[in-house]
Amino acid sequence: MIAKIIVDISTMQTNKTFDYEIPEELKDVVSKGVRVEVPFGRRKIQGFVDSVVEQTDFSGKLKPISNLIDVEPVLNDEMLELSKWIADQTYSFRISSLKTMLPNVMRAKYHQIAIVKDEMLNQDGLFVDGQVEVTDKLSNDELLKIKRYKTQGKIEIVYSVENRAKKKTVVAVKNSHSVDELIQLKENNRKKKAQVKVIDYFISNPKNIIAITELAKLINVSTSAINATVEAKIFEKLQLETYRSPQNNYAEQEQKDYELTSEQTKAINQITDKIKTSQSETFLIEGVTGSGKTEVYLNTIQNALDEGKTALMLVPEISLTPQMVSRVSQRFQSKVAVLHSGLSNGEKYDEWRRIERGEAQVVVGARSAIFAPLDDLGIIIIDEEHESSYKQDENPRYHARDVAIWRGKYNHCPVVLGSATPSLESRARAQKNVYQLIKMPKRVNDNPLPPVDIIDMRDLNNAAKTGDFSESLINALDTTIKNDEQAVLLLNKRGYSAFLMCRECGFVFKCPNCDVSLTVHKDHNILKCHYCGFESQMPTSCPNCQSDKLRSHGTGTQKIQEQLSEIFPDAGILRMDVDTTSRKGAHSKILNQFAQKKAQILLGTQMIAKGLDFPDVTLVGVINADTTLAISDFRASERTFQLLTQVSGRAGRADKSGRVIIQTYNPEHYAIQLAAKHDYEDFYQHEMFIRHRSDYPPFYYATQITISHQYENKALKKAFEIKNFFDQQFNDEVIILGPTPAMIARVKNKYYYQIMLKYKNQQIVHEVLTQLLIETQKDINDGFKISIDSDPQ
Ligand code: ADP
Ligand code: ZN
Ligand code: ZN
Repeated sequence: MIAKIIVDISTMQTNKTFDYEIPEELKDVVSKGVRVEVPFGRRKIQGFVDSVVEQTDFSGKLKPISNLIDVEPVLNDEMLELSKWIADQTYSFRISSLKTMLPNVMRAKYHQIAIVKDEMLNQDGLFVDGQVEVTDKLSNDELLKIKRYKTQGKIEIVYSVENRAKKKTVVAVKNSHSVDELIQLKENNRKKKAQVKVIDYFISNPKNIIAITELAKLINVSTSAINATVEAKIFEKLQLETYRSPQNNYAEQEQKDYELTSEQTKAINQITDKIKTSQSETFLIEGVTGSGKTEVYLNTIQNALDEGKTALMLVPEISLTPQMVSRVSQRFQSKVAVLHSGLSNGEKYDEWRRIERGEAQVVVGARSAIFAPLDDLGIIIIDEEHESSYKQDENPRYHARDVAIWRGKYNHCPVVLGSATPSLESRARAQKNVYQLIKMPKRVNDNPLPPVDIIDMRDLNNAAKTGDFSESLINALDTTIKNDEQAVLLLNKRGYSAFLMCRECGFVFKCPNCDVSLTVHKDHNILKCHYCGFESQMPTSCPNCQSDKLRSHGTGTQKIQEQLSEIFPDAGILRMDVDTTSRKGAHSKILNQFAQKKAQILLGTQMIAKGLDFPDVTLVGVINADTTLAISDFRASERTFQLLTQVSGRAGRADKSGRVIIQTYNPEHYAIQLAAKHDYEDFYQHEMFIRHRSDYPPFYYATQITISHQYENKALKKAFEIKNFFDQQFNDEVIILGPTPAMIARVKNKYYYQIMLKYKNQQIVHEVLTQLLIETQKDINDGFKISIDSDPQ
């Protein structure tokens, strides 16, 4: 028997299967989807068995598989198939897409071991049993010695693969006596009070196997008392496999039993029909904030479970949508597995195993949860489907929405995309009946959407009255606080202020590694680069003219917080941005405090725009609506509209009515005007007109090619070579833009140039780009990085 294996080396040359002989002793266990260790050149590396066949086309002698890493397959047929599709779609290697699908701990870690060939070396204390592991724990002298022995041919270096996917076990006790025997044992030991308690427990539960620590807590004895019963040979100890249960610190929510609205019922029926008849339809729910979409998701998940199927739900980022996760968890309890970036690698692996073994039937998670190994999917839901975080921004650059639709087809199940502000691409597909559109235009209970005031900050009567606040916003905040209600304030810029400038000569402090100015962070008194993480102490004088008249410009969340506490000294203010939420559990802590009304104002970056549902929030303020508009991206208007609509939706969700105040320097801009009217449809029409006029998606497909190198001239030259290649390959149906410097031309001391392709015929472009991928392989060794990003976000 022969195994066709994808080896763990990411190069074009190895982007195919290699044939290996399956040794006799491994015949029964090597199957499709298991990981093995194989010899490759002089090394031993990890490989994935793609298939098992009887014949090989290889004429030479096949090498045998050295070791088995998994006893059971870690990838099923669906995942193996899917990995091929992803590799092709995203111009990446099979091995990268396979590794992307698995929990981190299953990515191989290699050990280097030096093995003595020359017996004489055994005198050297460095080697134990004729070998030593080469790690950075060795001293430099020892490493040099190994290098010398290597060149002298006295040792051999071998690589071995470590399986880091370790199962966690706990020590447990079990009983093998009959109850009568136990009663006798109790009698014999009656003086030992604690041990009697243990025996009593097993008299009531003779068949149980229970972790020692758990039993100790349960019957209130010490673990040593339990151990004593083991030593006395009354009970037996054993290792029990267990899961690292991720701690769930979301606030409990009241479970309400509502009568579904007719809109909800209609949506649920339409989707459930496809679940029951196993059809792979894609639905787009365009439902205003508070229209009860979540309730639709939960009901359809229930219906899939009732059919004996499983359900997968994606949310943009778990820590930002804790209320959604807790609603799903509460509804489906132990059936739910949650996958997110906050889990440790071990916890992720355990959740993955629960899913893989069929112990969890409902999975909620962020982007990569789309690869959850659920069997027999009945429904896939993507909430906030317009979010750009569903696209991975490194190789393989897959979009979870596309993967969802692929899996929907494979499993013959519906896919539900939901949003108050669908992406133009999805909405356009619904227009053409590629997706089925479900509109939910009303809030449950017919609550109106909150009225929005746009404040023109160019008007001197508004601007800079009190720091960055207009009078209207101050007054509204004041009323809110007096009424014992709550406010949410959005400013999509973290830090204290955007940049530091010398007032004498105009010098701006910039990052030494990137083409961006450094952001002022007052709490730690530093300047920080948000792109590479560079930090420096706050300077006291200008390096150009030595003046000490330095002044910070622009506003960030830190500065707003400072201003707020001056204006409202008695109000509780919480800040939520990357800087206040870097520690594990920080998000939910802030949200819980706000839920318990320990603060009246929640201030934050776009993190606060999503999913929050607090009944006492009656005011939403946007400090500066222009931050997202200013970005040079054809989606700038769409992003602005989405953000404003989303954050406005936080106001007046329960019985109390709400209001929204947007401060802006672009009050006439259609994205802001239409967000204020909560008019998605009008925005969609307007934006489609603009995209049509300038040949952008969804009318054209787009792919971006980015070329980077340490030396600017090299990057530029290569970019032009690629452009010339495109000129030869494409006729004028493909629009080629660039090369131009990337939005930030230098990041981490590398120069970035980009070329954008816009086209209607996917087939031709796909072929040419695949050819480009092959031909640019050799450039990698010269320090180039060339990335192909189709449907760039
Ligand atoms: P969306 O996800 O569309 O923003 P939600 O599902 O969060 O909306 O619903 C908004 C609020 O209305 C929530 O507090 C939810 O508990 C409540 N809700 C949902 N469906 C109903 C219903 N049929 N009757 C009453 N309240 C409902
Ligand atoms: Zn100066
Ligand atoms: Zn930098």
